Amino acid sequence: MVESKSTFPVVIAGPSGAGKTTLAREVVRKLDHCRFSVSDTSRPRRGRERPGVDYNFVDVETFKMKIETDAYAEWAIVHGDHYGTPRSEVDGSVEDGKIVILDIDVQGSAKIRKYYPDSVGIFVVPPSLSVLERRLRGRGTEEEDRIQRRLEDAMRELDRMFEYDYIVINDTFDGALQDTLSILRVETLRASRLNRIKSL
Ligand code: 5GP
Repeated sequence: MVESKSTFPVVIAGPSGAGKTTLAREVVRKLDHCRFSVSDTSRPRRGRERPGVDYNFVDVETFKMKIETDAYAEWAIVHGDHYGTPRSEVDGSVEDGKIVILDIDVQGSAKIRKYYPDSVGIFVVPPSLSVLERRLRGRGTEEEDRIQRRLEDAMRELDRMFEYDYIVINDTFDGALQDTLSILRVETLRASRLNRIKSL
């Protein structure tokens, strides 16, 4: 017999506005054995974001102190603000036997992929740049200079999509969700993730 040790980190990256946060949240809502990794950030809280649920909002001094104490599994400056994955989010989920979903940028995902070689990398792309721009503006939560910066950063991020295991095109949300769920299902069945518990 075999049993699955389905406790691997899944990195969902892609440009801002590609829809990866909504996708990651929906995957976690649908699958009991998945957990969303809540990051720390120094950026200001947006709209309806809930502290401790969407992000832990911390000031730059606190963030830097946590870097010093090695509290982050990875951290990066993204669009001019600090973002970091607390080690406890990844290690705690693995201990609890959960798949942990990290919605992070390309710099952070490269670090996670290096330190957690069993992790899975998914890159979410919008169907076109004009759709990306429309989605970023449609959120109505950011000033024009922040939108411009995110569009410029998107070009750099898109350059790195082939570093990932899978590319999901977020044309329709349902399609992208089904693709992501299929990837997780298949990854759970990988022979290397299965424990032999007794002879067949
Ligand atoms: P937003 O400000 O739109 O919520 O996120 C901006 C970017 O930062 C997104 O690409 C998001 O995935 C990324 N991000 C969020 N949390 C983290 C984190 O903990 N580490 C890194 N490296 N990037 C993050």
